[in-house]
Amino acid sequence: MSRLDRLRHKLSEQGIEAFLISRPANCCYLSGFDGEGFLLLTRDRAYLFTDFRYAEQAREQAPSFDLVQVRGELSKWLPEWVSELGIRQLGLEGDDLSLNTYRKLAERILSLNPPPELVPTSGVVEALRAVKDEDEIEKLGRAASLAEAALRWASEFLRPGMEERKVAWELEKFLRENGSEELPFEIIVASGPNSALPHARPTSRLLLEGEPVIIDLGTRVQGYCGDLTRTFFLGRPRGEFERIYRLVQEAQTVALEGIRSGMTGEEADGLARKVIEGAGYGEAFGHGLGHGVGLEVHEAPRLGPESKDVLEEGMVFTLEPGIYLEGRGGVRLEDMVVLRRGKVCKLVEVEERHDRHQRAS
Ligand code: ZN
Ligand code: ZN
Repeated sequence: MSRLDRLRHKLSEQGIEAFLISRPANCCYLSGFDGEGFLLLTRDRAYLFTDFRYAEQAREQAPSFDLVQVRGELSKWLPEWVSELGIRQLGLEGDDLSLNTYRKLAERILSLNPPPELVPTSGVVEALRAVKDEDEIEKLGRAASLAEAALRWASEFLRPGMEERKVAWELEKFLRENGSEELPFEIIVASGPNSALPHARPTSRLLLEGEPVIIDLGTRVQGYCGDLTRTFFLGRPRGEFERIYRLVQEAQTVALEGIRSGMTGEEADGLARKVIEGAGYGEAFGHGLGHGVGLEVHEAPRLGPESKDVLEEGMVFTLEPGIYLEGRGGVRLEDMVVLRRGKVCKLVEVEERHDRHQRAS
């Protein structure tokens, strides 16, 4: 079933007649168009609204959509179309539309006669995006492999005395020169006490021997993101960090071996969390185990305490346990996995097998 058919099916289950898609990644996923615009899906038509700047691109990327060139704000032109198409009920992406856009739109639309119903929704297209097809898995595999190559290269060139910011810049150049599109987030290079901040930004701090250095980097290949983290030590890990490293590794392995399709994000998270809690570091693992990766670097499903997301075949997500000790440092390991035949395996390994297969044939 095509992506649009699957979406129509979901909408009809929820009793939604027409749907406005505003989130850029959702528009891209459904139409292939990655410029600025909106999609409007009815039971039998699919429109793409964009302005003069993107008209040509839209025609090329989304040939099966009815292209409409518009001007100005959503509230200026959408009500007319809603009225023209006789839409009685319009679903909106509540996680995306700003409050002000919604207010203006609602004011105009609710003054139509008869006034259509506006239905804010959450995560409808995102739920479809969470399950990847083979083509998407291949792109994600390439994005993950590129991230892995950069981290392998980092393990060779990292030296005490290097500046965090300089390391981040070298890695960024490496990724861009080796095929990454615009990086999905600023590379994290966090050394010593900075590594205790899960979302540290690279500073002018110099790397020291024996301290943890967390490098978390994202890549983008044909629109699809990679997201991997390694923790390095220059020389022998200092203090308790050798033990912490092994613990984080064990937590990741337990999750890797124990996750099964049908589990919730909370159950999957619990596998790794139990290992870390059992060793007395529960408080130091302050974020979830992982997140889906696709057109966006953070997407559904969410693996963490209280996540009811159900893990299904074809989902691609990260496993990234970490332990952070304020003022001292931290360790995080992050890999991307795919759920296949009920279990998870690392995406780079799938990609390597695929590569070998292609070379052999
Ligand atoms: Zn991540
Ligand atoms: Zn990451």
